[in-house]
Amino acid sequence: MKFYKDHYDVIVIGGALAGLSAALMLADKGKDVLVLERHNLPGGIATSFVRGGIEIEAALHEMMSIGSKDHRLKVGKFFDDMGVDIDWLKVPEAYHAAIPGLEVTLHPGLETFAREVDAAVPGTYDKVLAVLNLCHTVFDSVNELSIHPMSKVQMLMKHEAFVKTAGYSTQEVLDTFDLPQKALDLLAPYWIYVGTGFKELPFTIFSVLMADYIGYGSYIPRKFSHEMSLKMAERAEDMGVQIEYRQHVDKILVKDGKAYGVRTARGDEIYADYVISSAYPNKVYTSMIEPADAVPVGAIKMVNGRRLSLTAFSVILILDKSAEELGIKDYSVFHGDTMDTNACYDELKGLGPYRYITCICHNLANPDATPEGTCSYSITTLPRVDGWKTVSADEYDRVKHEVARQLIDYMSEYLGVNLLDHVLECVIETPMTVAHYTGMWNGCIYGYAHTMEDHIVARLQTAEEEHFIDHLEFSGAHQISGDGMGPAVTNGRKAAKNVLDTMAKEAKA
Ligand SMILES: Cc1cc2nc3c(=O)[nH]c(=O)nc-3n(C[C@H](O)[C@H](O)[C@H](O)COP(=O)(O)OP(=O)(O)OC[C@H]3O[C@@H](n4cnc5c(N)ncnc54)[C@H](O)[C@@H]3O)c2cc1C
Repeated sequence: MKFYKDHYDVIVIGGALAGLSAALMLADKGKDVLVLERHNLPGGIATSFVRGGIEIEAALHEMMSIGSKDHRLKVGKFFDDMGVDIDWLKVPEAYHAAIPGLEVTLHPGLETFAREVDAAVPGTYDKVLAVLNLCHTVFDSVNELSIHPMSKVQMLMKHEAFVKTAGYSTQEVLDTFDLPQKALDLLAPYWIYVGTGFKELPFTIFSVLMADYIGYGSYIPRKFSHEMSLKMAERAEDMGVQIEYRQHVDKILVKDGKAYGVRTARGDEIYADYVISSAYPNKVYTSMIEPADAVPVGAIKMVNGRRLSLTAFSVILILDKSAEELGIKDYSVFHGDTMDTNACYDELKGLGPYRYITCICHNLANPDATPEGTCSYSITTLPRVDGWKTVSADEYDRVKHEVARQLIDYMSEYLGVNLLDHVLECVIETPMTVAHYTGMWNGCIYGYAHTMEDHIVARLQTAEEEHFIDHLEFSGAHQISGDGMGPAVTNGRKAAKNVLDTMAKEAKA
């Protein structure tokens, strides 16, 4: 039996959220799609695994851009439109911020959030609400402009707040509100989800983050993030997509500046009009293009010029008592010695001790996440990869356990419970685990850093120039919308749209 067809419209490398979103959108438009995934199951980082008979979420804390059933945001709507039926659970709070002298739980809803900040830092309601409303206005503009690009003059007339703030950092814009430090601290915790300190973080990115998460709340699938990838893969196959697992793509074949197929590690050459890659551009341009001299110098300059964003270190514990018995009160807690995001970012370049930590207790959003009388508690920090690159193979095991122990001790002290006395299962994920499992370049889950020089607005402007090989598109956290599971879906859709637009343009020519 022949394994592959003679030819496909599109080959997608990687069957995780970004790749599967691209495949769904292309199949929906009647295209013949092949997805090649090197693992034996879909999802990449959006996965779960079983230890001691208990299913454990590998990564997801919270999804953005889902929205309620009555008011779906773009990612939630895409799942609905594609017939991917996810059982979404709303996360009860925005977050609990835990820093010395400040312990505050904040809930989604712009006014609710501002009121709760005001209760902790009296007299700040109007200013905090003004910040959040500004974020919301910018967020609406970004959403509209991503679908309906317009001239600069039109933009200035219709999207004044977006245009006025687009060239400024988060710090520069927040400074204009003259808020007390404690209120600023309460607005800061989500910075880690975009991984750049406020001095360098474009206000546009901060706005999208705050308006989406705080305006509409966040969600998780009842059956862990793997519910998304499994159902997407199932639906894609129903729509005629061929998905092949355990097929590592070694090479992308290029002729006359145009991609025309791939070669897998087991030697199959498969042909298509277009290739979409979830593998990082760094990996593709340095070792996957065949022939290697088909890579333009500009492509190498681009990947060398981009700064990689954060990676992850996570300790996932299954504990032998319920959250209530252990005194864990909130689903999501951000801990720090400080909420000075610039200082936190600097600290993340080393190997610890890490003090900016995000903890999740799944059972507080999903009571059935683990068997009754137990709970799942993950302690995550998001280091930069710099420190981890210095760890030798001989040292790796020791360093990994030391860092995990430090995080467990830190949280034990905070909770007033020795977590080690309650461990049923313990899984440690390091940047190396992520790199090994997904092939992400340097284990960077967040793609390229958002900085004032290089972020969504700038990337949209340079997208054309950065298209180095015809009929080759990229999808993944490394693309325009940036990091996270929601943006991975958006990036996959964008790659599919680029393919469809080129197909239409070439058909006309
Ligand atoms: C601990 C942790 C916590 C996180 N928490 C959150 C969170 O709460 N919210 C959130 O939104 N995001 C979170 N993230 C980030 C998020 O998981 C990623 O940004 C997102 O899943 C990236 O999706 P992707 O499709 O781009 O890539 P990946 O999931 O990395 O998928 C890439 C896929 O391509 C396959 N592949 C790569 N190369 C090849 C090849 N050559 N041939 C064939 N297949 C290939 C890989 O096997 C993989 O399946 C977290 C990540 C981690 C590690």
